[in-house]
Amino acid sequence: MANTKGYVIVREEECKGCELCVEACPVDVLIMSPRLNKMGYHPSSYTGEGCTGCGICFYACPEPGALTVFKRWDLMEENERKEAILAIENGQRVKVS
Ligand code: SF4
Ligand code: SF4
Repeated sequence: MANTKGYVIVREEECKGCELCVEACPVDVLIMSPRLNKMGYHPSSYTGEGCTGCGICFYACPEPGALTVFKRWDLMEENERKEAILAIENGQRVKVS
């Protein structure tokens, strides 16, 4: 998709399933997952296409560390993407970048 500049990673275990990010996304690329996390919430999930990197979901989310938005994922090298995903999986806070 031509507009897919951004990318969102949801740390499912930090998500409380409030849906605020889903409602806030202007291009409707976030959904609620049918999965349950350990706390019993349905976490939000990125559909994988169409994120513009606007960051609105990040600012709508009340849970620190649940969402990370990459504004120019399309310009990142594959190894940079892998490092970022690993860092987030390991619990490091990654700012909107
Ligand atoms: S960064 Fe913007 S376009 Fe991307 S998922 Fe969040 S609200 Fe939607
Ligand atoms: S706004 Fe945050 S806590 Fe609420 S569903 Fe989205 S990621 Fe989860």
